[in-house]
Amino acid sequence: MTAAIEFRDVSRVYGEVRAVDRVSLTVQAGEFFAMLGPSGSGKTTCLRLIAGFETPDSGSVLLNGRDVTDDPPYVRDVNTVFQDYALFPHMSVLENVAYGPRVRGQRKEDWQQRAREMLDLVQLGNFGDRRPAQLSGGQRQRVSLARALINQPRVLLLDEPLGALDLKLREEMQIELKNLQRRLGITFVFVTHDQGEALSMADRVAVFNHGKIEQLDTPRALYARPATAFVARFVGSANVVTGELAQRLSGRAEPFAVRAENIRLRAPAASANGDTMSCIGDVADVQYHGAMSRWQVRLESGEVFAAAVADTNSNGDFKIGARVRLEWARNDAVPLSAAESS
Ligand code: ADP
Ligand code: MG
Repeated sequence: MTAAIEFRDVSRVYGEVRAVDRVSLTVQAGEFFAMLGPSGSGKTTCLRLIAGFETPDSGSVLLNGRDVTDDPPYVRDVNTVFQDYALFPHMSVLENVAYGPRVRGQRKEDWQQRAREMLDLVQLGNFGDRRPAQLSGGQRQRVSLARALINQPRVLLLDEPLGALDLKLREEMQIELKNLQRRLGITFVFVTHDQGEALSMADRVAVFNHGKIEQLDTPRALYARPATAFVARFVGSANVVTGELAQRLSGRAEPFAVRAENIRLRAPAASANGDTMSCIGDVADVQYHGAMSRWQVRLESGEVFAAAVADTNSNGDFKIGARVRLEWARNDAVPLSAAESS
């Protein structure tokens, strides 16, 4: 099968900044692909390279197997949905959605009908006559989506499309977007700095740091088997253990990660067995999160561990300042590649 998008060793440099640094990736047709990373890690530049708003300094970009590296945006079969919606304020919602077919000179009856279909698709069937200013943030985002989808692109690029929405609306839109993508079978490239969003929506996630991909994997694999310290911390904030402490706990100098939810708190004198690793520290802080509590435990050597504990009453036995034993299964210590990149 031909990949919908392929980067071959693509770089884009601005002065001293390697915004995109020798990135290679393939996105399959129909895939929901997320680019995840902190601000400044090169995600938007990657989208602009796909759309053709940027040209790489080296490497090549392919769409559906064709080299488009030097093609201008308007000949590429991709559309972009921007974080700020970029709607035309003086046009009605219907006219906004119909923008693509109108500039291509489609007949009025035709573009009106298509635009109404698109508004139905994003559940805004009754909003065609309004102006963008008369809509909520979530509704504007859906108009912007309908305006992209009307062009029937094979690839839709979404740059932090839910960033401006409040939490509840964001969660609703996550579900709607995912359903829409499944139904239409369009390839989505979805940029976000929110690891929860990437994990819950994407088929695969590329984790960016300093213009490079640290790991490209399914959400489950990223979470269960982070490859680097950066990914372990950024995706689900795992504890990263390095140096002497790693040596003391595991018997080897290689760094490893252990998820907060895999750590148990026990009495200091509790006995450990060979299938576990354990260490002793003092409770520095406890944050209540409803279903669970997050404990910060400081070891004598100074490192702080986070442990997430299902909130049963028994945890009330440990007070701030109390001495506790942290324990986790050896299997839950995930070896990390030694290259410390963060
Ligand atoms: P992200 O979308 O992950 O936040 P960007 O791709 O926007 O990251 O930016 C990556 C890096 O490239 C940043 O350091 C940014 O400041 C820089 N950069 C992006 N666009 C330009 C530009 N047009 N001119 C100069 N520097 C840029
Ligand atoms: Mg960006």
